[in-house]
Amino acid sequence: MQGKIGALRQQFKTELASVKDTTDVEQLKVRFLGKKGPVQDLMSALRNSSADERPLLGKQINDLKVELTDLCEKALLSFQEAELSQRIATERIDITLPGRRRFMGRKHPLSSFLDEIITILSGMGFSVQYGPDIDSDWYNYEGLNFPSDHPAREMQDTFYIDTQMLLRSHTSNTQLRVMEKVSPPLRIIAPGTVYRNENISARSHVFFHQVEGLYVDKHVSFADLFATMEEFWSKILHRKIEVRFRPSYFPFVEPGLEIDIRCTQCQGQGCSLCKKSGWLEVAGAGMVHPEVLKNGGIDPEVYSGYAWGMGVERLAMLRYGIDDIRLFADNDLRFLSQF
Ligand SMILES: [Zn+2]
Repeated sequence: MQGKIGALRQQFKTELASVKDTTDVEQLKVRFLGKKGPVQDLMSALRNSSADERPLLGKQINDLKVELTDLCEKALLSFQEAELSQRIATERIDITLPGRRRFMGRKHPLSSFLDEIITILSGMGFSVQYGPDIDSDWYNYEGLNFPSDHPAREMQDTFYIDTQMLLRSHTSNTQLRVMEKVSPPLRIIAPGTVYRNENISARSHVFFHQVEGLYVDKHVSFADLFATMEEFWSKILHRKIEVRFRPSYFPFVEPGLEIDIRCTQCQGQGCSLCKKSGWLEVAGAGMVHPEVLKNGGIDPEVYSGYAWGMGVERLAMLRYGIDDIRLFADNDLRFLSQF
């Protein structure tokens, strides 16, 4: 019996020395240690041995079983490690491949930009007011000193719904609504969408966004408007911005102005963006016309105010160097995902 145990051990070791992979090891293990294998046969033969020998022989067979099992585990492990090193040595990982990005929704660049404008102006003491997109002729034109036959109405081609109602052509329709509700001092901004019946091109669209600013109090002057504009433009464009006023005409202000800033591209040297002038026109403004104050229920003998309006798309185009206003409404992810 002991001779058989020794021979079996030797035979196992000889065969183990010639296995080539994990499958060979598994097969060897089943053949030697399985239910119909020689180790099990030895166990069965144990009952034929004498009672004196049995405990010792039993222990030796059991030791053999443990030893063979252990040898199989070690062989398996070493083959697995070898296979892994082989894979590491031969597989190539292309670290230049782009990762898979999860799609994340985000704000439209105009909304983020408008949020920034609102945050800056709120910080300067302006509260936010919203007027309706569909409004009456009175709030959009008549009450703002555009009489019905006034040629200035043609400056803003308007979508009329009927003879009285229209899609607002500017956010200035919020001015009278606020004056009716709030007594001075009032300091508001009115952001929103405006509509114009124009040909769609790189420079103009049938709808875009504006922010209207209005400040009414005693002794409000041009100097206040100038200081507000300098601070606002410097904050939104992230550097010290030089501002200038040019006389202009809008029916609801007297006097009216255009607000220019030093060209952001050439710093005033003259370039194609500023058409060699060194200045960019960024907003229309002026002192609120006394008729408009009256229409809003405010005494123009006591109070004065300034107002300005600016196009959000135009500012975003300046800030980000975008040359086509249509991109904002195209909903093209190749454009939107750049922000
Ligand atoms: Zn320029």
